[in-house]
Amino acid sequence: CGIIGYVGELDSGGQTDGGAVDSVGAIVHEGLRNLEYRGYDSAGVALVGASSGLTVAKRSGEVDGLTVPDVPDATHGVGHTRWSTHGPPTDANAHPHTDCAGDVAVVHNGIVENYEALKAELSDHEFTSDTDTEVIPHLIEEELAADPDADLLAAVRRVEDRLEGSYAICAVREGNDRIIVARRGSPLVLGRGENASFVASDVTAFLEHTRDVTYLEDGDVAALSPDGVEIVARGEPVEREVETVTWEAD
Ligand code: GLU
Repeated sequence: CGIIGYVGELDSGGQTDGGAVDSVGAIVHEGLRNLEYRGYDSAGVALVGASSGLTVAKRSGEVDGLTVPDVPDATHGVGHTRWSTHGPPTDANAHPHTDCAGDVAVVHNGIVENYEALKAELSDHEFTSDTDTEVIPHLIEEELAADPDADLLAAVRRVEDRLEGSYAICAVREGNDRIIVARRGSPLVLGRGENASFVASDVTAFLEHTRDVTYLEDGDVAALSPDGVEIVARGEPVEREVETVTWEAD
């Protein structure tokens, strides 16, 4: 249903364009609150820090009831509000979903239509939810195991080729300092801040931080870092327009 992601420099006082921010977790939590109006049944976050690794917290129920873990060294994070399509609204079915090793976390909007066939191929993986989404981190884990030199962007591109249906995805990995995102059929917009990058399903999630945005197109995969975004379409790097949002959110 709703996606927010943030990667940025916080040592410069944690200041992005206009909004005062004190931690990655706080920005992601605030993004989730901004997405609440869309309706949802569960919420969760994944935060990544250089020494703390990957920390996930998720539950069914309201965003305000979600305790976002305090991860002082977090450099980036993603958050999700879920509107269940596959599997009831339980804590286990809330996003982010992780791989077996607990190194990769994924949030997803939309439906993976062929998840049953993909899950059957992953019979040696232990699944902990009833969602269609959970095949995605496990497929990424397989890609990274098959080619340990592959980066997360390459792994997500290969996994994307296997997914049928509609999706907007954000993936993070322990030891990796970028957020990888992909869209087909579900909206994703990038926010281009000062020493910070944002991603969301809806621009209102991060509008108090930056008004410079880039809308991704179907088939785009992007890597976000504090320095900016790298966008790939059909295997080739592409430039997409940066637009300035001029309207005011309510
Ligand atoms: N199909 C996924 C699920 O049921 C994602 C639903 C959504 O877009 O929130 O978990």
